[in-house]
Amino acid sequence: MSEVIRLLPDNIANQIAAGEVIQRPASVVKELIENAVDAGANNIELHIKDAGKTSIQIIDDGKGMSEMDARMSFERHATSKITSAADLFTLTTKGFRGEALASIAAIAHVEMDTIEQGAQLGTKIQIAGSKITSQEPSSRPKGTSISVKNLFFNVPARRNFLKSDNVETKHIIEEFNRIALTHPEVGFTFSHNGNIIHNIEGAGLRKRIVDLFGRNFNNKLVPIEEETDIVKVKGFIVKPEFSRKTRGEQYFFVNNRYFKDSYFNHAVVAGYDNLVPPKHHPSYFIYLEVPSNTLDVNVHPTKTEVKFEDSRSIYSIIRSTIKLALGKYNIAPTIDFEHESQFDLSLEQQNSPIRQPEIQVDTSFNPFKSSSSPSSSGSSSGFSGGGSAGRGSSNAFNSIKPNKEEWEDFYKITEEVEEVEDNTQEDEIAFEEPLKSSSNKMQLHRNLLLIQVKSGAMLVHINRANERVLYDELMERFMLSPIAAQQLMFPYEYNLLSTQKLEWENNTSTLKRLGFDWDWQNNTLVLSSIPSMLEVEYVTQCLDGIVEKITHEELDKGELVHELILSLSAAATNHRSKMLSEEEMNYLIDRLFQSEQHQYSPSGKRILNTISIDELNNYLS
Ligand code: ADP
Ligand code: MG
Repeated sequence: MSEVIRLLPDNIANQIAAGEVIQRPASVVKELIENAVDAGANNIELHIKDAGKTSIQIIDDGKGMSEMDARMSFERHATSKITSAADLFTLTTKGFRGEALASIAAIAHVEMDTIEQGAQLGTKIQIAGSKITSQEPSSRPKGTSISVKNLFFNVPARRNFLKSDNVETKHIIEEFNRIALTHPEVGFTFSHNGNIIHNIEGAGLRKRIVDLFGRNFNNKLVPIEEETDIVKVKGFIVKPEFSRKTRGEQYFFVNNRYFKDSYFNHAVVAGYDNLVPPKHHPSYFIYLEVPSNTLDVNVHPTKTEVKFEDSRSIYSIIRSTIKLALGKYNIAPTIDFEHESQFDLSLEQQNSPIRQPEIQVDTSFNPFKSSSSPSSSGSSSGFSGGGSAGRGSSNAFNSIKPNKEEWEDFYKITEEVEEVEDNTQEDEIAFEEPLKSSSNKMQLHRNLLLIQVKSGAMLVHINRANERVLYDELMERFMLSPIAAQQLMFPYEYNLLSTQKLEWENNTSTLKRLGFDWDWQNNTLVLSSIPSMLEVEYVTQCLDGIVEKITHEELDKGELVHELILSLSAAATNHRSKMLSEEEMNYLIDRLFQSEQHQYSPSGKRILNTISIDELNNYLS
């Protein structure tokens, strides 16, 4: 019998181990920045090319390594950070497994240039596939520089497994943010393909958050602080009204280490106590400190979960800390999210005596006469102002302004209620056009139009109808030329995460065509112009929608345009639940029926439905 079991050569063992530690460029970034932090660096530079696939370079001003250590550092299980298993429970460093450099060197071309503090000469080592290919003295002034090129050059399956540059860059940014938030005292420079993404000095936590996520954040933050024997809690939470539909900035740290924990996340949400609407997520930056012997840091290299000895108590402490902070800063919701304002009557209306609605039929009125469309200007395409003129170029809705007098007139009309005849029912058309020859419309609860049609009554949802009309118009305009923009007198700031900024930039041409123009201040979008039909107070709503679409859905170009125009038309129409004059109602219906899709809003909601005379009669029987 022959022996079949053999020890794997080191380079293969390293390659296998590397699979665990290094899954993508972001893992390299994480490990190398952590090493730089562990080396006591005050400033760390991160430069990546092609989402880290081509190269990743980290330069630090930390304590550096001697020639011996530089060579040793690439050995598996070579670490200066622990000497015994007991040390695992009193960890003060990020790394301790001694695996990262060995793993990286097994699957990439690595060059390390390092000098030990106080030494005359440094060491430059090149290593690829676990083999040192060159070593020479170097003359760098301080710290360590490591560059990692051609990641997974010898593991093609892994390389092919990598996602698009976009996705990989997002992972890198996320790792970067986690470390930058863990160590606000350290300065960071971060560039991608030569473009600076961040250049931030060491600072306090509030400044760090603002540096990473934009100036707007400053007003959104509420400090939290609590000290108990079990845990110390500090950090910031974001005011509830700034919660978003995307799970953006949710960060937990314990003893200077980022971790994920859905149980504690629940504690945070519970602390907000319904101040955050359903499906919205509060942002938070919460730093816990526990005695190190009550914390079990996962020894798995890439896991971010940790175990706490007394997680139930910590849960309640987190929850009450947040409740207290929100109470202390007297943060009450400024928007009532459950509120369906469209269906509300104004106070004035509520207090006025209830009048029975009376309808007068003006048989001579023809809503389809062109003169009844305030701004159709005879343009068959339905464009009122058209073209790419600047501010003031009209659109379907510039003309629809609430006119209280007309609205009151509408209700003042003398009584002339028609008796509905049973036998007028003709062949029912599912969505027949409203009768053209009578003033037969009534606005109900602001958001609905009730229209008498031949076969019964038609109910039209005004917002959705507006949305459909605007969507069609914008879509057509978008295809022909850029959508008219309005210059803003005061730039409008909107804050994005680094990943969102990236997606925004990826869609620059589409967004410009929509009428947006902007500059950047870090991650803050500084808008100098917006689409002309959008009112400034609804810009945030519109941008929330757009950012959600560009970051969270895998859409092809066509779908994206649809979604973006949808966000724009929704933001430009949602608030238009004002009382309409008769002309405005007629105009809206006129425009709606010009659309081939007049039954459904662009987001797929039903705009109108007809109730037959039979149904109406049955209703009372
Ligand atoms: P670990 O961080 O778990 O110890 P690594 O493979 O990441 O393992 O690093 C191995 C050793 O190399 C570290 O323990 C440290 O002594 C040394 N080292 C790595 N990077 C640096 C650096 N940037 N500056 C100084 N020493 C470093
Ligand atoms: Mg390490």
